[in-house]
Amino acid sequence: MDCGEGVQRRFLAESIGLGSDMTILVTHLHGDHVTGLLGLLQTMSLAQRHKPLNIVGPAKLLRWLEVTSDLLHIGLTFPIRFCPAKPGTVLRTAGFRVRAARAVHSIEAFAYVVEEHSRPGVFHPDRARALGVPEGRLWSKLQKGRAVTVEGRRVEPSEVTGPVRPGRKVGYSGDTRPSQRLVRFFSGCDLLIFDSTFKGGDEEKARERKHSTSLEAAELAKKAAVRMLALTHFSARYIRTGVLVREARRVFPNTVAAADGKRLEVGYPSE
Ligand SMILES: [Zn+2]
Ligand SMILES: [Zn+2]
Repeated sequence: MDCGEGVQRRFLAESIGLGSDMTILVTHLHGDHVTGLLGLLQTMSLAQRHKPLNIVGPAKLLRWLEVTSDLLHIGLTFPIRFCPAKPGTVLRTAGFRVRAARAVHSIEAFAYVVEEHSRPGVFHPDRARALGVPEGRLWSKLQKGRAVTVEGRRVEPSEVTGPVRPGRKVGYSGDTRPSQRLVRFFSGCDLLIFDSTFKGGDEEKARERKHSTSLEAAELAKKAAVRMLALTHFSARYIRTGVLVREARRVFPNTVAAADGKRLEVGYPSE
């Protein structure tokens, strides 16, 4: 999500393979969100990446990539699948889909939600046996959510599996003011990563520069009933982010400060 100039150092530090399946989501065309992208693509080519790379972002992002790679004679060893951001679903892969909504910033900007596909319910072999379904092909059909017929009787997947297990949902605001639309858009996220450029009390500055305060992020997280909030995009004026987190926790207790390399466990909604 976004590609600042430090991105390649993070790839190295976290041992993320340059050839792995990957989708890059870019929220808007401010330098701190895109300047790392070109260098990353170049390094991927040096590493002989061949797999296509998904990039989602404002339509102008593709123009910037085309113009700069042309001027700098950068040839890529892999195809880019570019998905222009617009409100609604912008990308579907085997594992998840990405939806976009308009953010409220000084230039065109998008927020994203990444949603895992739901998984079929847990399969109960004892129930299948009790209904006389022989192990093998028919079991696998039922596990995939399809009904089968055994000696003239139809067996529904719901008879032998638990309830469908919803996938996890992660939201990312990019740079934005809070808005009602974003409350709806992020509703029920298991993790929400939200703009927290300023601390509460600096609302005036936040309004002026089209960012949010930690307090506003917490209020939005509460309204959207998310499970966990990670504050990010802190202004350089705050050497320590503890004050922003403490303030946010008074409104939304399950708040953490995002930091380079920080790992958060995101549980499944039904767990
Ligand atoms: Zn910005
Ligand atoms: Zn920014």
